[in-house]
Amino acid sequence: MLVPFLTARRRQRLLDTPLNASSAAALEEHVALYKRLPSACKAKLRDIARVLVAEKTWEGCGPMKGKLSDEMKLVIAAQAGVLLLGLGLDPLRDDLYPNMDTVLVYPSAFTSTAPRPVGTIGNLPVMGEGFANLGEAWDHGAGAGPVVLSWADALRGSLDMASGHNVVLHEFAHKLDMLDGSVNGTPLLESREDVEQWKNVMTGSYIALSRSAALGMPTVLSPYGATSPGEFFAVATEAFFQRPHELRASDTPLYETLAHYYKQDPARWEQSAC
Ligand SMILES: [Zn+2]
Repeated sequence: MLVPFLTARRRQRLLDTPLNASSAAALEEHVALYKRLPSACKAKLRDIARVLVAEKTWEGCGPMKGKLSDEMKLVIAAQAGVLLLGLGLDPLRDDLYPNMDTVLVYPSAFTSTAPRPVGTIGNLPVMGEGFANLGEAWDHGAGAGPVVLSWADALRGSLDMASGHNVVLHEFAHKLDMLDGSVNGTPLLESREDVEQWKNVMTGSYIALSRSAALGMPTVLSPYGATSPGEFFAVATEAFFQRPHELRASDTPLYETLAHYYKQDPARWEQSAC
């Protein structure tokens, strides 16, 4: 979806202005994924991140109120932007994450108000709330809603790729999943063949993870991905970008299916053109 002409002109002015030194340093020092990218992809990611910082509403919450700096926003936005790099979006003209207007940032783990199943009575789920959480992607209807993040964990995942965990990639993968209005682990795909391929591969890998998780066997994917197909896509996205070599070696069809969707090959960034 294209943005209005005046928005595109405002973006042009923004991106014509060189990035200031502290923001450039924040990307180089705090976003491990950014450092790995070829220079053409770095330039595109900078543009995407700057647009996200400028156009989304960013709110520091709790003790973070009034303390959310432009550098912190940029570190989060750059990670979110990595998911968009290959999706054919023009940072000057395309709407970026059109189903998300607001990013809420807490200093660390926050108390979630989102109900989640805690058990069952008969066949009925029992919902609870008030859990500590590191990130959330809200769906207020038709897939639209804010992303909520713990800054400490957003930074940790950004610096430490080896852990495979990245709460920003996780929550923004949910937002991509929600673009079709539902969180079902299947984002918008280009063709019927892609949908068939996606269902076959994802179902197999999801069942394999569920079995491993039930047995307590460690895998490249976090066992949290066995919670639901929606969580599986978010967890697989984390591993795809954070531990691409390990994921490709352990589940090649899953890696290749994600590479086909994201149109990126993080195990061979040097071959990416963006
Ligand atoms: Zn999730």
